[in-house]
Amino acid sequence: MHCPFCGAEETKVIDSRLAGGGSQVRRRRECARCGERFTTYEVAELVMPRIIKSDGKREPYNADKLRSGIQRALEKRPVSADEVEAAIERIQHQLRARGEREVPSQLVGELVMAELRRLDQVAYVRFASVYRSFEDVNAFREEIDRLQAGSTPEEERSQIPLIPEDE
Ligand SMILES: [Zn+2]
Repeated sequence: MHCPFCGAEETKVIDSRLAGGGSQVRRRRECARCGERFTTYEVAELVMPRIIKSDGKREPYNADKLRSGIQRALEKRPVSADEVEAAIERIQHQLRARGEREVPSQLVGELVMAELRRLDQVAYVRFASVYRSFEDVNAFREEIDRLQAGSTPEEERSQIPLIPEDE
């Protein structure tokens, strides 16, 4: 690639290593003409399916939108940024693995819930209460009961609020 400093065509790679947990290649390059060094990142371009919304409209998959929804549910919860990124990676992997050009937004929601349920049950309940828009308090209570019936350690159970916390 051309040197971003002087525009020379000849640049050589002087170092190459994996970055971003193996999903990127980071290269240090040096210009043969001016001697300036710069870094490039190489990432795979992966085609994500388009999302079919509940009203039938299609929209491009948007990782930022997915991330912000997950982060909102995880606000003030003890889950690291790395865990969030790994969860997003898994969701994207599952979406691609279907090999469909379009997938319903409902599927994305279900995948997010499955990840949140694994990461943090409070976040899961927050997300599910908005996403499934529980019709009444009983439906919400049933979901909590279903969670508590699982193999959740005692200390985690006590953290599950009976009503969703306000944003
Ligand atoms: Zn140069």
